[in-house]
Amino acid sequence: MAEKYVYDFEEGNKDMKDLLGGKGANLAEMTGMGIPVPPGFTITTGACVYYSTRCAYPAGLDDEIAVHLAALEGKMGKKLGDPDDPLLVSVRSGARASMPGMMDTVLNLGINDRSVEGLAARTENPRFAYDSYRRFVAMYGDVVLGLKPEAKEERDPFDALLEAKKEEAGVKQDNELSAEDLRDLVARFKDEIKKRRGMDFPQDPHEQLNGAIVAVFKSWDNERAIAYRKMNNIPSDWGTAVNVQAMVFGNTGDTSGTGVGFTRNPATGDNEMFGEFLMNAQGEDVVAGIRTPLPIEKLSGYLPEAYGELKRIRGVLDEHYHDMQDFEFTIEDKKLWMLQTRNAKRTGFAAVKIAVDMVAEGLITPDEAVTRVEPEGLNDLLRPVFDPAEKASASKEGRMVATGTKAGPGAATGEVVLFSADAHERKTADPGAQLLLVRHETSPEDIKGMAAAEGFLTQFGGATSHAALVARQMGKVCIVGCADLDIDYDKRVVRIGSGDKVHSVREGDWLSIDGTAGEVYLGRIKTLPSEVEQVLIDGTLDPSASEVYREFEQFLSWADARRRLNIRTNADTHDQAGQAIAFGAEGIGLCRTEHMFFGGDRILAVRQMILADSEEGRRAALDKLFPMQKDDFVGIFRVMGERPVTVRLLDPPLHEFLPHTVEEVANVANECLMSVDDIEERKRGLVEANPMLGHRGCRLGITYPEIYQTQVRAIIEAACQVKREGVDVRPEIMIPLVGSAREMAVTREMAVVEAEKVLAAEGMEMDYLIGTMIELPRACVVADEIAVDAEFFSFGTNDLTQTTYGISRDDVKGFMPVYLDKDIYEADPFQRLDQVGVGDLMKLAVERGRKTRPDIKLGICGEHGGEPTSVKFCHRIGLNYVSCSPFRVPIARLAAAQAALEEE
Ligand code: ADP
Ligand code: MG
Ligand code: MG
Repeated sequence: MAEKYVYDFEEGNKDMKDLLGGKGANLAEMTGMGIPVPPGFTITTGACVYYSTRCAYPAGLDDEIAVHLAALEGKMGKKLGDPDDPLLVSVRSGARASMPGMMDTVLNLGINDRSVEGLAARTENPRFAYDSYRRFVAMYGDVVLGLKPEAKEERDPFDALLEAKKEEAGVKQDNELSAEDLRDLVARFKDEIKKRRGMDFPQDPHEQLNGAIVAVFKSWDNERAIAYRKMNNIPSDWGTAVNVQAMVFGNTGDTSGTGVGFTRNPATGDNEMFGEFLMNAQGEDVVAGIRTPLPIEKLSGYLPEAYGELKRIRGVLDEHYHDMQDFEFTIEDKKLWMLQTRNAKRTGFAAVKIAVDMVAEGLITPDEAVTRVEPEGLNDLLRPVFDPAEKASASKEGRMVATGTKAGPGAATGEVVLFSADAHERKTADPGAQLLLVRHETSPEDIKGMAAAEGFLTQFGGATSHAALVARQMGKVCIVGCADLDIDYDKRVVRIGSGDKVHSVREGDWLSIDGTAGEVYLGRIKTLPSEVEQVLIDGTLDPSASEVYREFEQFLSWADARRRLNIRTNADTHDQAGQAIAFGAEGIGLCRTEHMFFGGDRILAVRQMILADSEEGRRAALDKLFPMQKDDFVGIFRVMGERPVTVRLLDPPLHEFLPHTVEEVANVANECLMSVDDIEERKRGLVEANPMLGHRGCRLGITYPEIYQTQVRAIIEAACQVKREGVDVRPEIMIPLVGSAREMAVTREMAVVEAEKVLAAEGMEMDYLIGTMIELPRACVVADEIAVDAEFFSFGTNDLTQTTYGISRDDVKGFMPVYLDKDIYEADPFQRLDQVGVGDLMKLAVERGRKTRPDIKLGICGEHGGEPTSVKFCHRIGLNYVSCSPFRVPIARLAAAQAALEEE
């Protein structure tokens, strides 16, 4: 049977997102629930995919559309193109995953010069008829005919004409224009199209419909949609569905309006309806910040019945979906219509709160709660806040100069930038730049600049505007609708304040915004760690004083109940180890001994060790280092208690520690009792063409056994000392960069001999493990042989990725951006584990390692250990633990729990 490409809203449901897109599936679901939805039909994503590869409709699509259109006309009792009583439709994009505002939508389709008169006559409302027509011409001109601003300072051509018309007519708002004004505006719009495109505005409604459908198909591949997909890891071959739906009109007059809302507060998670509306308006007016919308509670004063109905539906949706929804609605002559619903984007704060609340409300189980929060969202709860003291004194100094709607919690301080392109450019040139994007409003074109900024501040728009939406999604600090801003894009100045207190802030000046409070401050304000850190790490805040902390704990306890992976941390000092424990770490997966080498006067001894020209010289230097290393380990073991601690023996190429300046060289020469020339000579001898593949890892331990011997002695002596204090320490000694069984056997033997010597001398017994890092493809392949002498494997996926791909991570600048841009790689394999290539090698190592040693302990300590998709992969291949940086421990805990739940 031929593929079915068109579904009526009555045929679908919410589980058909792959086919109908999210919007189409949920319109169908609401239709089925008996919620008032204007009728319509959905053209599948499959049709779009077909179109994007072949630039043509699949066979039969035309006919299917005709059949469903006829059915729609029947339901509405109107015909598309009827000059007296035209059916008008919207043509709406909607992909599987929500991509808000990225693709295109055309409203009021079906009007032409004749039917506009029919519409005016029938409704006895010429203002409405011409308002709909001018909107249609502008949208069609933009979306289908491509009339968009061409330079960054240029305005949208239709907006510019609208502005001019309003000025001529002496009115402020678009809804004050008369029918006559609007009719004239339509003419001007059409002239503009003629001028720029050399064509007349298409009058045939069926031609209009096909033009719009094709344009929506094509909008899947517009630049901003592509950028958005990249940022959100949405595959490029999904395509968008197209929804054709009978129009309902929020622009008929004072009994109509349109709005958007949430079933709960998307910034804070509070259980209250939240949203905004505009009277006598249509479509995107609310989101686009054309007029400043009113908070939704105010609707009760204008249209109490519709408001009551909306509140009822809010409850129905929240309960039906068991999740917070964001919805779009329109009221036509007092009658409420729902136009969209979907699971709402929310801040990490709100996500955790809603998950915890919904469990308390009996709407979801703790397991479901665990699936409701994106692991990365937990970062929000760890975002800095302003130092209350500095903030208070800034207030006292009168630096709190404006307030707005809070749209993204947290504290951001940065240099003001007015254009997104500039923000993007500056951040690319200087990744350390702290920027604050300040604009009238933002639009999808601003995406890259928004990604580059710490936060955004907008003059117009409400909590559902584009800026607010993106802030929630990207986890940025954001204030919108800050009425006391006056931005002069030409002079590149922002005036902030009101009355006689107006401050000029130039581009490049510092500004601070508190997205939690909605306050704007001049200058910089110091930030403090999040409440969670203040409770857990600094101990400066009492848990009872922090609701955020309590929800965080509650939520993660549900995650912990489910996860099977252990979570360890990569920590090199006892401070880091302590932090990680506070965040829930259950051990150290990677302690890099060389990170201890740079502190204080240690580096001198390290240099002496490297540059000494004899074993004797090296031993002398190692003797100096020994007590310091031992002390470090004592500190770490004390903090870690009975949790396992994996210490990696020296790994990096020695030249990383070499002296550079004349003075440094002289110091080392002095220490080694060698001449400066000899030192320089030794230095030259250590130069390597490819240090990453050079004399490093266990190769060091094998060529200079005394280095590893000293380190093992320091570890075991430290362990003995702490064990004597009554703690059952569990050291694990890790040999880096093993690629052959002999390397493992030799280094293991060396370590065992040294450890046993210490234990004999101390008269103690201790369980310690000796294992290896798996970071070479060969190690994966001969894992069965290596496992003979290795009691654990820890996948060092940074190096394993480098060696599998044959890419030096330090040299990716020249091609990685291009590779990502051209989709050669789907994601940067250094950030997100390559599950296919590197992952398969890991699977091989797991399988072969376990064959030799069924109880071998398996973990990962590369940076992937804190990246959610990689954590889930590690769960699936049966590792025992992942290890990540302390601040990512909560994220890994959650990802591990989700992995376990996904399996069920
Ligand atoms: P987006 O995906 O950008 O949100 P939509 O397809 O949801 O685009 O359309 C944007 C807005 O257009 C909606 O919020 C709604 O207000 C308006 N709209 C869409 N279809 C209709 C319709 N059939 N009747 C009235 N308004 C509509
Ligand atoms: Mg849109
Ligand atoms: Mg929408």
